[in-house]
Amino acid sequence: LDPKYEFSRRKLTNDVNELWNYIRSTETVKSEMKNFVKELKNSLLFDLDIIDKRDEKYRQNRLKSLSNYIQKQIHELQNPNDCKIAEKIVCTLNKGCGFGCQIHHLSYCMIIALATKRTLILNSKNWRYVNKIQRSPIIDKLSSSSQSSTTTSMWELAFKPLSENCLDDSGTSRTNWLNSIDHQHFDEQPSLQHRNVQVIDLPILDSLRPRPSYLPLTIPEEISSELKLLHGSPFVWFIGQILQYIMKPSKEIEQFLNEKRKQFQIEQQHPIVGIHVRRTDKINTEASFHSLSEYMLYVDDYFDRLELFQKRQNNETKTKRIVYLATDDSSVWKKEVPKFESKGYTFIGDSEISNTASVNRRYSFDSLKNIILDVWMLSETDFIVCTFSSQVCRLAYELMQAKNPGVDRSKDFFSLDDIYYFGGQNSHNQIAILDHDPMKDSEITLKRGDIIGIAGNHWNGYSKGINRVTQQNGLYPGFKTKEKIETANFELFKNFQQ
Ligand code: GDP
Repeated sequence: LDPKYEFSRRKLTNDVNELWNYIRSTETVKSEMKNFVKELKNSLLFDLDIIDKRDEKYRQNRLKSLSNYIQKQIHELQNPNDCKIAEKIVCTLNKGCGFGCQIHHLSYCMIIALATKRTLILNSKNWRYVNKIQRSPIIDKLSSSSQSSTTTSMWELAFKPLSENCLDDSGTSRTNWLNSIDHQHFDEQPSLQHRNVQVIDLPILDSLRPRPSYLPLTIPEEISSELKLLHGSPFVWFIGQILQYIMKPSKEIEQFLNEKRKQFQIEQQHPIVGIHVRRTDKINTEASFHSLSEYMLYVDDYFDRLELFQKRQNNETKTKRIVYLATDDSSVWKKEVPKFESKGYTFIGDSEISNTASVNRRYSFDSLKNIILDVWMLSETDFIVCTFSSQVCRLAYELMQAKNPGVDRSKDFFSLDDIYYFGGQNSHNQIAILDHDPMKDSEITLKRGDIIGIAGNHWNGYSKGINRVTQQNGLYPGFKTKEKIETANFELFKNFQQ
C-alpha cells in the first residue's frame, strides 16, 4: 500500500462530501441545481467505492491482524503470571453520569493501563445502574464465588470480568495518580513515569494532573503508521479495540441481545440506518433540540445513495427503508414516527425502552440492559445518524469499528451537531494544507503549515477553529486542512512488528 495513494483516496471521499455539504446548505443555490449535484455526488461516490475495493481484502487482512495483536497484548496484560506482584491501575466506576460516559471513563483508564503496562483493576462496587435493592442478592451470589470482596463486581452482571485471574486491587504499596508520579521522568518512557508503587488509583480524566501525552486523541506511536495507513479515524478504531476487550457481554446480556435480535429480525433487515435521538435532560444544557425530520434527511441521503449504487450495477430493485430508532424520549415514537411510517419507512426498536431511558427512570438494571441493547443495535447498523454531543452515539460509533475490525467504517455516520471527540481530550488539531484568504468577516486566514485547533464542523463546507499561529478564531473551509494525529509511546505495544 502506498500511503500517498491511501490518503488521497480517503481525502477524495471526504472532499466530495464537503462539497456536497457546501452546496446543500447554500441558500442561494436553486433546488434544481442541488438535485443535480446530489446525483453527481452519489455517482462520484460510487466510482470512489470501486477504487476503494481494489485493495479492500488486503487492507482488511492487515487491519484484522493489527486487531488480533492488540487483543492478545491486552489479554496478556490483564492476566499476569502472578496477580499478587503485578503492577496495577485501579479504575472506579462511580462517575455520576450515564452509561456512555461511564464506559468512556473505563476506556480512558484502560488507555493509561496500556501505556504504562499495568494491569487494570475495575472497582464497580457502587455502579449506579445497579440500585441498592437489586444489589444485595447479587453481592451474596458474587461473594460466594472467587470475587475479591474489595472490588465486588457489579460489572459482571452485564459484562465478562476484565481478567480471568487478577481482579484483586490489593498490593504492597498504593497511592493516587498524582503522588505516584516521578516528575523527573514525566513524559519520558511511560513505565518510568511512576515511582515504585504497585497500585495506582486513577481519578476521572478531567481532573488528571499531570496529564501525560498518551491521553486521547493520541494513538500509540508503535502501531501508528500501520493504523494511519489502514483507517480513516485511527483514534476511533483504537478506542473500538479497547471497547472490544472490555465490553464482552455476560451470558445474561448475550441471551437478551440475541432474543431482541430475533424479535427485530435484525439479520434479515439490512441495510438498516440507526438513529439516536437524545433529548430529555440533554436539551438546552448540552445540546439543541432536533426534530425526527432533521435526522430523516440524512437517512434519505443514505438510501438515495444506495439506490444510485444499485442502478449503476444494473440492479433496479427498490431497497426497503428500515430505521433502527433509539431514544430517551418516548414521544418520538408516538408523535413523530407515524408520519414517516405512512411514507413507507419501517421503524424497528422498542418504544418501551425510551420509558426506562428518560431521565427520571434511568438508573436500574433494566435500564442498563436497554441502553446496552440500543448501543449494540446502533453499532450493528450500516449507517448512524445522531448527535455526537451524546456519549451514547459516540459509543455506538466506536463499537461499530470494533464489530468490523478489518473494515474502515469511519465514514458511516452523520452527526447533526459536534464532530467526534472524547470527553476530556487534549486539544484536537489540524494542519492547513492550502492557504486561505477570508471572503467574509467570520472567516480566518490560513497559511500552509499553520496548526488549527478545530472546535467543530458546521456541515456546510466550513469548520470552526482557532489558528494557533495567529490566534484568530473563526471559520475556514474544511478541505483546506488535514488531521494532525498525535502519537505517544505505549509500553504494551513496544514489541509490535509490522
Ligand atoms: P449523554 O448524556 O447522551 O452524553 O450520554 P450518557 O450515556 O452519559 O448518558 C445518557 C444516558 O441516558 C444513557 O446512558 C442512558 O441511560 C440514557 N439514554 C440516552 N439515550 C438513550 C437511548 O437511546 N436508549 C436508551 N435505552 N437509553 C438512553
